[in-house]
Amino acid sequence: MRENREPRDLAALLSGHAIPRLEAIAREAQRLTRLHFGRTISMYAPIYLSNLCGADCTYCGYAVHSGHKERRRTLTEAELRQECEALRGHGYLSVLLLTGEAPHAVSAGQIARAVSVAHEYFPSVGIEVYSLKEDEYRDMTRRGLDGVTLYMETYHEPTFEQVHLQGLKRDYLYRLDTMDQAGRAGVRRLSVGALLGLYDWQMDGFWTALHARYLQRTCWQSAVSISFPRLLHTPARFCVPHLVSDRELMQLILASRLFVPEAGINLSTRERPAFRDGLVRLGVTHMSAGSSTRPGGYSITGEETLEQFEIEDSRSPAEVSEMIRLAGYDPVWKDFDHAFDPLAG
Ligand code: SF4
Repeated sequence: MRENREPRDLAALLSGHAIPRLEAIAREAQRLTRLHFGRTISMYAPIYLSNLCGADCTYCGYAVHSGHKERRRTLTEAELRQECEALRGHGYLSVLLLTGEAPHAVSAGQIARAVSVAHEYFPSVGIEVYSLKEDEYRDMTRRGLDGVTLYMETYHEPTFEQVHLQGLKRDYLYRLDTMDQAGRAGVRRLSVGALLGLYDWQMDGFWTALHARYLQRTCWQSAVSISFPRLLHTPARFCVPHLVSDRELMQLILASRLFVPEAGINLSTRERPAFRDGLVRLGVTHMSAGSSTRPGGYSITGEETLEQFEIEDSRSPAEVSEMIRLAGYDPVWKDFDHAFDPLAG
């Protein structure tokens, strides 16, 4: 198999013609992953700052019209510190801060403050929030932000418009431009993805990989990674229109690895343990574990707050890191790039 693949090679890898060759493709994906990342899996955990959201994305439990009645709340700074302490206790050194789209409740300034607080506990702090502007990302990088995750959800514009009924997120081009803004602001890690199940997985997988390659070229100072969130549980009002099978998701991950060999690949606790375990050897480089998708999920007990989605892998961080070791890989809790980054604190 040749390196430096063109978009037409990616299309072939995603097509039905690749299915009889999946074993050979998996071996090549494994070789490329070990070449670029060694035998390491970086561990991270999400911290939900708030479950308030003014947007109406029909597939999401946080959507303003999702129909869920559980409590919505925003963490205070003291509660955020509690969450950070709980995760530090599990050994985490890398976290992802999340909110819904509610700038009135969690403004860019409040997210920036949360980054500063989290950076007191963790050397690596990423955010997965609504689209921000370049100057807002720049301010956050000065406070310790080193990663931005933002999914297009689907690159198919008519579907994008059908599932995003209300909020800033309805603006397709504005959202598409967001990662460029983060890259220009000097954010060191950029993570893109499509929410698999909204549209045809081959089309969305194709454009996600092209977006990753585009960012690698235009934001050359940033490391780009791809996430593969797959829709499994949704609010009652939404039925997943393009369910993605395990084989299809595996083929998509392998094809992405061959097309963008230097890109990190994230797999969250949305996926079942056995499926995640199998992918450790085949291209995945970043994994969350012991995750909670509700604000206060690690340290506030006795309160039923609304969660964004149900997780499938509820193993503890210790159990997941043991699985990674048994597979012959090292779970990495710290992002060693900081040691080489002259701007890192
Ligand atoms: S996907 Fe994000 S913006 Fe959309 S409803 Fe959910 S939390 Fe809000």
